[in-house]
Amino acid sequence: MGQIDTRLIQTAVIGGRDSDQPVILPEQPHNLDELLRQYGKDDFWCGTLLGGCGEPLRPKRYVTRVCHFAHEADPGRGECHRTTNSVDGADHLFVKAHATRWLAGQGHAAQGELRSFGHCHGDAVDFRLRRTKTRLRFELHPEDYRSWRKAADSLGAKEGRIEWVFGRDDTLARDMVARRGYALLVRCETDGNDRRVFIGTVTDGKKTPWVPLELCRMTESGLVTPALEGLRAEGVVRADGIDCEPFPSSVALPGGQVVFAVDAEAAPLSSSPLDVPGRRLVPGFVKPAGSRIVRACLSLPDTVPDPTDQYVYRLAGSVRLLVTDVIEGIGSSWAVRADALVRLNGLEAERTGLWRPSVALDERHVPAPRAFSVCERTPLTEPASSGPKAPEIAPGKTADALRRTLEEVAAKGATITWSELTVRLGGWVHDLPNPARRELLVEVDKPRVPENPLLSVLVVTYLGRPLSYLDQVLGRLGVAEPASKLALQQWAAAETKKTHEAYGHRRTRASAAPPPRVKQPAARVQAPSESDLRRAHQRRAQIGEKLEEAARTRVRAKGARVQRLSEAIQQGKEHLGQYEEVRSHGKALRAWLKEGDRVLDLLDRLIGRPITVTPAKTEHRTAAPEPKPAKREHRAAAPAPKPAKVLEPKPVEKKDPNLRKIRRLLGEVDRTHRHRPTQELLRLLDEIGKHRDQLIRPLPAAETKLVERWRSRLENQRSAERSAQAAAASRNTPARAGRTVEPPQDDRLPAERIDKLAPTVRDILQELARADGTPLNWGDLRLRAGGQLPPLHPDDQVALLVAADRGTPADEPLLSTLVDNSVAAPHRLYRQVRLGLGRESVPDAELESYRAMEALRLRQIWRYRR
Ligand SMILES: [Zn+2]
Repeated sequence: MGQIDTRLIQTAVIGGRDSDQPVILPEQPHNLDELLRQYGKDDFWCGTLLGGCGEPLRPKRYVTRVCHFAHEADPGRGECHRTTNSVDGADHLFVKAHATRWLAGQGHAAQGELRSFGHCHGDAVDFRLRRTKTRLRFELHPEDYRSWRKAADSLGAKEGRIEWVFGRDDTLARDMVARRGYALLVRCETDGNDRRVFIGTVTDGKKTPWVPLELCRMTESGLVTPALEGLRAEGVVRADGIDCEPFPSSVALPGGQVVFAVDAEAAPLSSSPLDVPGRRLVPGFVKPAGSRIVRACLSLPDTVPDPTDQYVYRLAGSVRLLVTDVIEGIGSSWAVRADALVRLNGLEAERTGLWRPSVALDERHVPAPRAFSVCERTPLTEPASSGPKAPEIAPGKTADALRRTLEEVAAKGATITWSELTVRLGGWVHDLPNPARRELLVEVDKPRVPENPLLSVLVVTYLGRPLSYLDQVLGRLGVAEPASKLALQQWAAAETKKTHEAYGHRRTRASAAPPPRVKQPAARVQAPSESDLRRAHQRRAQIGEKLEEAARTRVRAKGARVQRLSEAIQQGKEHLGQYEEVRSHGKALRAWLKEGDRVLDLLDRLIGRPITVTPAKTEHRTAAPEPKPAKREHRAAAPAPKPAKVLEPKPVEKKDPNLRKIRRLLGEVDRTHRHRPTQELLRLLDEIGKHRDQLIRPLPAAETKLVERWRSRLENQRSAERSAQAAAASRNTPARAGRTVEPPQDDRLPAERIDKLAPTVRDILQELARADGTPLNWGDLRLRAGGQLPPLHPDDQVALLVAADRGTPADEPLLSTLVDNSVAAPHRLYRQVRLGLGRESVPDAELESYRAMEALRLRQIWRYRR
């Protein structure tokens, strides 16, 4: 290697030993001849700026090997220490020459200066642009990180702006990406005997686009590539370069095992270094596998709909730990980053220890997918955290309506879930976040008179357990809270019984008349009642306890929360101080109690809610008044092994004989579907339909869903049987498709569900069109939808895309263009969606290129459209 003559030197300078005019020796002899005609053969030098000896070099022409330069065989010549012989050995000189010319074209008369960091003569090429007070540095060979930071700081202090263009995508470039959202790279490519200069724009997670230097502009705010113009338009890069604190760094976490629940009561975040463009922070509880639950923020892409506090989610996509550099006085911050969320079902959620059992098991009233355009997104100021009012209806009215319903439920000796209440009272119930539901229940049972029955205990979870926040409701009502979850369950069971008994003989009163107990405590009584005194006593203790807890929380709290806690603690203390004054006046004491509610609530919210698991599993108290589907029957006594899908007994409607028949028939379908002909099963469904028509109330949600599922499953099964029979007839092979052991998976979705999903899909596709228009497959689409998209029947996929593209103007490409189907049939879906929307058909042979053009048009249309 070290022997001079065997080195295949490919670069030289022309015009003298110290020249900065580089040249490449072409590898092919005919190109060499051309070069020699241009420069002659005596003007090639082992240039000093190449780290060479300064001696002449001779071009060696070969036909069978590559041509190269060689030193003259002169015995008296000193040893040459040049180390860079390869084709890129003169790139610093090429960069210097080309950039000088390019800058001149932009109105900057700047001469390049070569810098060495100890590697070679041209570790960097600097240009000082006096007009814009900018130094442009092509850093071809990197310094170590610390020297670079030092240089960056000192040069920046001296000259204002520095624009860095790196020779490699390495730590320095990545640091720059972390600071400004992108970094610039330089590389050279051989073009005849020249090396052309290309500039690359590096961003996180995307392929680096390269363009010739001539297509870039030198502006006051730095070197701008065409790709950078796009990024700026999208707002994903920061204008200030090296001066910015870097965006957080990230470390991969073991995939698929981190779960998350929203902390709806967390104080809104103040600005955070972890907040980066295109993403948002959601405060919550994070639990990595094998670790304890940690209160932390989750960084989610803006395109993912807000998680709600009613579910537990598994983090999906690239799950990483975000960490910031240490900021003086604050230290380093961290958060967990994910690309998507997958909602866990009840059982999985429960295992995480983050379960909120009230709604987690109930699929029927999954929150409708919200549109999530940037302007609508206000995840950190969710009304959920602020509390007590129902969104559309005045709180008094909603509480009255709920109270009346609960009285009916009590009169029937039953309990009810929020989902059932949604059916009874309307969609607003469904939209209420847990804290608002809690407030509503407090309202229903207020003011609390100890002897009177509680209605709030009648609202239970899907499994008939007490609500997760029942203890808080009780606390707010001044009822002594049972100490443990188990005690609470027992207490709730006893209390439910009491309520049933109390209402057992009073049938529903005229709806307008509030229950007498509401009016009972008369304001004119001057001395406080016994019960008020008792409540006041409890309330004092509660507030005292909360104050201590708040003080402990304050020690750990940060930022604005400290201030808020201090204020709340102050209020709490003042409130306690007033007790002695008011204790002997009935009215004043009552007001004091009411104010106490507010103080407690405030403290509660600021302290935050501890995550509690509900360990004990008891069956729905009113379980199985009817024959349940046989398959489930023997399980009913055991702790429910599987959530959902189980027929939920609806105690409220148990009197309706038609409903009973429907349940029986559903049970029969469930029991016998494995060995009964499909046709017969469908007949059972028809029978169910007849009974359904005679129902007094609408069929409850759970049964409705079951009927729908069976209907679509059986119809699919029947059509599969038919086609299998047809196939069997033609091929004379045994038909197997008809009687599957597992029921077919491809349940169809109801049309309204598809319409609800459509905006989500459209938003995702718009986002994609704005970004880069790269097609995605169905799996990616589901991932991006954050678990909102169930697995879909192929026909539902078409229907969903048709719905998503319904608003697309006729002269614009369909957003569905961006959804690829399977590898085997890439255009099937697209063709069907076009058909479904009445677009003209495209011949198969042209479909591929047609789609490519449409995708391009989409990108152009959506690029700057918000
Ligand atoms: Zn030499």
